[in-house]
Amino acid sequence: MINEAYKAMLGGKSVIRELSEYATARGAEIGYENVFDYSLGNPSVPCPQDYTDAVIDMYKTAEPVALHGYSPSLGIPSVRKAIAESLNRRFDMDYTADYIFPTTGAAGALAHALRVVTKPGDEVITFAPYFPEYQPYVNGTGAHLTVVPADTENFQINFDAFEKALNPGTAAVLINTPNNPSGAVYSAETLTRLAEVLNAKQTEYGHDIFLIADEPYREIVFDGGDQPYPSKFYDNTLSCYSYSKSLSLPGERIGYVAVNPRATDAKLIVPMCGQISRGTGHNCPSSTAQLAVAKVVDETSDLSVYETNMNLLYDALTRLGFDVVRPGGTFYIFPKALEEDANAFCMKAKDYDLILVPSDSFGVPGYFRMAYCIDTEKVERSIAALEKFVHEVYGR
Ligand code: PLP
Repeated sequence: MINEAYKAMLGGKSVIRELSEYATARGAEIGYENVFDYSLGNPSVPCPQDYTDAVIDMYKTAEPVALHGYSPSLGIPSVRKAIAESLNRRFDMDYTADYIFPTTGAAGALAHALRVVTKPGDEVITFAPYFPEYQPYVNGTGAHLTVVPADTENFQINFDAFEKALNPGTAAVLINTPNNPSGAVYSAETLTRLAEVLNAKQTEYGHDIFLIADEPYREIVFDGGDQPYPSKFYDNTLSCYSYSKSLSLPGERIGYVAVNPRATDAKLIVPMCGQISRGTGHNCPSSTAQLAVAKVVDETSDLSVYETNMNLLYDALTRLGFDVVRPGGTFYIFPKALEEDANAFCMKAKDYDLILVPSDSFGVPGYFRMAYCIDTEKVERSIAALEKFVHEVYGR
C-alpha cells in the first residue's frame, strides 16, 4: 500500500507553485511578458561569468574519471577548506574544513541541521512570517514546528511571544535572515537579544537549544548594509547556506552547513551529517558544482537589480496607501492587503494579471508577497496595473 501521509500531502500543494503554474498558463494565452508574475523566488540575473568559465575549464581540462567520480561523503576537502576560509575572512570566524558540510542547497542543509539537533517529538520554533517549506522540512524529521506570531511593526522578533513559546521540549530555533517573505534583515540588537534569551533558557532547562540560521539571502542586503552573522552571536549555531540566490544557481543545488566550532559536540556534527545522508539518500552535491563554487567563493552575481526593483515597488505601494515595511534585503516585499482576506485580495489581483502570493501559508493572515526577481522594465509596467487594480477595486 502507498504511504498515506505523503498521499494526503498531494491535496496541500504549495500555493506559490500553483500560482507560478497559473502565471505560466496565462502567459501562454496573452504572452508571458504581459503577466506580472511575482510568484516565485527564482533569481533573474545570470551567474557570474567566472562561474561559467570555471565549469567550462573543468570540463575541458580535468581528467573525466576523477572529475565525475564520487565525492567523499563529507564533501570535497579543498572545497570545504575554501568555504571555511571565505567565512573566516568575511565574518572573523575560526572555521576549518572540518566544520563545513556541502549540501544540495539550503533545503539539503536544513534537512541535515534539523536532524542533527532534534529527535522525533522535539519542538522547533520559528518566527512568522516564515518560508512555508519549513513545515515539510520539520515534519519530515518527526519533530514539530511551533510558529511565534510576527512582529508586524518591523518584522524583527516578537520577543514576548517567543519567551512564552519556549519550553523544555524546545530543541532548536530556526531563523531566516534576510527573511523570505518580509525582506527583514535581523539587526545586531535582535541577534544579541535572541542569544541572551537562548543562553538563559539553556541554563534553565539544562540542555542545549540550537540555533539553525537559514541564510540563502545573506548577500542581498540594501542601502550598502550587511547582514550581521548570526553564528557570531550564539555558539550553538548551525548556519545553513545556499548559492541559489547569491550566485543565481538554484538548479545546481549547492550550499552548505557551517558548524560553529564552539557549539556543543561541534567536532561530531559534520560526521553526523554524513551518517544522516546515508538515510536520506542525499549523498553530497555534484562534484562539479562543489568545485566550481569553490573557485568563486567570494563572488556574487550582479545583485543590484533587486534593490532597484525594491525601491520602485516600495515607492509605488506607499504612494497607493499600502501599509508596508521597507525590506532591508532579499527580493521580496510583504505589504498588508487592502482587505482582511489576503486570498480574496490576490484572487482579484489576478484579473489585472498581477500574480501576488497570499500570506496565509507564511503564517500571517492579511498580507501578500511579491517576489520582484523580474526585469525592472516589467516592474515598471506592473505599477500601472497595480494602480488600476487598486483604483477600480478599492477606490483608491
Ligand atoms: N530557505 C529559504 C528562506 C528560501 O527562500 C529557500 C528558497 O527559496 C530555501 C530555504 C531553499 O533554498 P535552496 O533552493 O537553496 O534549497
